[in-house]
Amino acid sequence: AKPNIAFIGLGNMGAPMAENLLKAGYSLSVYDLSEAATQRLQQAGASVADSPKDAASNAQVIISMLPAGKHVHSVYLGENGLLAELPKGTLVIDSSTIAAADATVVAEAASNLGIDFLDAPVSGGTGGAVAGSLTFIVGGSAHAFAKAEPILAVMGKNIFHAGDHGAGQVAKICNNMLLGILMAGTAEAINLGVKNGLDPKVLSDIMLQSSGRNWTLEVYNPYPQVMENVPSSNGYQGGFMSKLMQKDLNLAMQTAQDTKVETPMGAKATELYEAHTVENGDKDFSSIMGRHDSSVLS
Ligand code: NAD
Repeated sequence: AKPNIAFIGLGNMGAPMAENLLKAGYSLSVYDLSEAATQRLQQAGASVADSPKDAASNAQVIISMLPAGKHVHSVYLGENGLLAELPKGTLVIDSSTIAAADATVVAEAASNLGIDFLDAPVSGGTGGAVAGSLTFIVGGSAHAFAKAEPILAVMGKNIFHAGDHGAGQVAKICNNMLLGILMAGTAEAINLGVKNGLDPKVLSDIMLQSSGRNWTLEVYNPYPQVMENVPSSNGYQGGFMSKLMQKDLNLAMQTAQDTKVETPMGAKATELYEAHTVENGDKDFSSIMGRHDSSVLS
């Protein structure tokens, strides 16, 4: 029989992930601070809870998709923290992108209570969340990974076991540091072409078939109206907020500093996003295009 699932955090990513679980026949109890977020899931067939504890009361599996480490800490270990309420043997899957050290703290507290915790951050963007084609990058025990795999396979296509607690988060921030560099670089290249008379779509098509090809050109072009159904063609709404990219770049920089690893390109991308988020934190991260060409933001 399918386990009952409690899903906490129904934002740009969590909502479509939870909807895919419902479509696959899982019964879901959901919680989010935002009523608009829970209403969407209620319409899709979930039951809406008043608190994380309420959501978890009849669940064997908990999944969370929250903005940052402080939210994860608060939900699991804060006042009325969820861990203390869960029966032994519950499986907790946190798919938020947070510091590996924060994930390890929650994992150890869970382990002391006989609860399995996995860090399972994702890649693939909101498009991947809707399509159920996310990449899951999992840290934790082999036993917990085996329990989680069929559930993650409903929301994702590639499920990786990166290693022990925190390993999923380390792999994820390496990926997102590279993504930040690629997005900033792609925006810079398109701008150079446009300012020299090229059509952004023509230039993008050329680079897509040339050695500058990368994920941002393939599925997430930062210049408005080059692609349909991407944030840049929708006023940079939805998607992956710049402030969340900045969070991830900061996590990468902190890790690099702690382990004395040089990341000069990552440092530059962090600097660019830091300046950009002052005014554009809630816009999708491809809005870094506007740093070069402010007309795209209006
Ligand atoms: P989001 O801000 O759209 O959604 C977060 C949701 O969590 C919101 O609905 C918010 O109300 C809710 N929330 C916050 N605190 C809460 C609490 N204490 N209890 C219950 N709900 C709470 O963010 P998102 O884009 O869905 O991203 C979630 C995580 O996934 C982040 O860590 C992000 O870095 C990561 N991520 C995002 C993307 C993307 O493309 N958007 C891709 C991969 C990974």
